[in-house]
Amino acid sequence: MVRICSFILFVSAVFVSAIGAEPADWIWSARYVITEDARHRVIENGAVAIRGDRIIGVGTKAEIDKRFEARQRLDRPDAILAPGLIDTHTHAAMSLFRGIADDLRLQDWLTKFIFPAEAKNVTPEFVRWGTRLGCLEMLLGGTTTFTDMYYFEDVVAEVAKEAGMRGVLGETIIGFPVADNKTPAAALQFTERYLVRFRNDPLVVAAVAPHALYTNSDETLKASRALANKYHAPLIIHLSETKKENDDAMAKRHMSPTRVLDSLGVWNGRSLAAHGVWLDEADMGILKARGVGVAHCPSSNMKLASGVAPVVRMLQMGLSVGLGPDGPAGSNNDFNLFEEMDLAAKLQKVSTGDPQALPAATALEMATIRGARALGMEKEIGSLEAGKRADLIMVRTDRPNAVPMYDPVSQMVYALKADDVRDVMVNGKTVVRDAKILTLNQAQILLKAAEYRARISASLK
Ligand SMILES: [Zn+2]
Repeated sequence: MVRICSFILFVSAVFVSAIGAEPADWIWSARYVITEDARHRVIENGAVAIRGDRIIGVGTKAEIDKRFEARQRLDRPDAILAPGLIDTHTHAAMSLFRGIADDLRLQDWLTKFIFPAEAKNVTPEFVRWGTRLGCLEMLLGGTTTFTDMYYFEDVVAEVAKEAGMRGVLGETIIGFPVADNKTPAAALQFTERYLVRFRNDPLVVAAVAPHALYTNSDETLKASRALANKYHAPLIIHLSETKKENDDAMAKRHMSPTRVLDSLGVWNGRSLAAHGVWLDEADMGILKARGVGVAHCPSSNMKLASGVAPVVRMLQMGLSVGLGPDGPAGSNNDFNLFEEMDLAAKLQKVSTGDPQALPAATALEMATIRGARALGMEKEIGSLEAGKRADLIMVRTDRPNAVPMYDPVSQMVYALKADDVRDVMVNGKTVVRDAKILTLNQAQILLKAAEYRARISASLK
């Protein structure tokens, strides 16, 4: 009996090794794999194995090929394979207002141009086409997760799913009548229906997005927090973006915006604050104590002359800081996380006089694992590790701006461009292949953008 059993064991062992290995849907291999795991490993001649929506193995190509048998593979011996980039703050549908009014301060830009243009043009169809244009640009440029705040956010969520893109998508709540809701009470009801509709979605995290302290009443802000907590949803808000916002809060309430929001209980739950340009030491202490993530938006802060966020201090204090392009309309005007990484690093250098203030490695972390942490999603995305969602990008390094390459991390931040992205996978599905979008109709989106340009221009005359 013992002999028969050991014979069976022997046969099954031979059988397993003959078949080879564990099944995988995909193996992607590249010259360098930047993992952003806890050890910040960069693997030369590396590979990643994927099954379903998850990463199941990361290692050298030799190790991965030995261990897994994949149905399909993508081998790019002259590319960098990295985690998909994470955008922690934007307004995707505003792409249709790209360049409508440039070179202004935030308050002038908002009140003289954006709010009137939005009042005349924003409809569900506007949001659908604007978000399609935004997702198209983001995916082609290697962004796999976007954090959005706008109106008709249910339509943004529909488009994210159609594009195959991951989104933390917040319905805007604001204290004056807007396209989708005429009162904050109506906006809160709309948001609750939206939170219920997209609960447990594999790609969409539905969020509550009160626009800012200065555009909402205390009651609305408290109700927004309560609604977010009822559904375990994140709350997204603009915070201390301009000096004026801080000065007004100090004049009116003798407290900074961060302290006012703290006194209202707005930070009591999962939260993400965009900008934080004018945070002081005590504000940062509050955000750290409450576990609030920060979205740093260097292009927008520079273009609107809002100031320089104290990012080095935030990082020293252990705050989770990600990157965002903010709006494409006049505060940036694109969705390009390669540019945000480059500018985040350079803005801290020039403002502190220290070239080591924010090194390339930290900038790349902010666009990946630190961004995931700011969103409270670091267990799911932000690095290439077994068990995480399969969100990855392949970046070509065979163009003049990419050679020679001494350090792939430095190359990602200071030399490579968004249009060097060649392939993109989100949640185990290939959505960009050889720099071509597979999920959206690019020609139709570009045509619609031109149509909207004519319509919006006419509406402002
Ligand atoms: Zn914004």
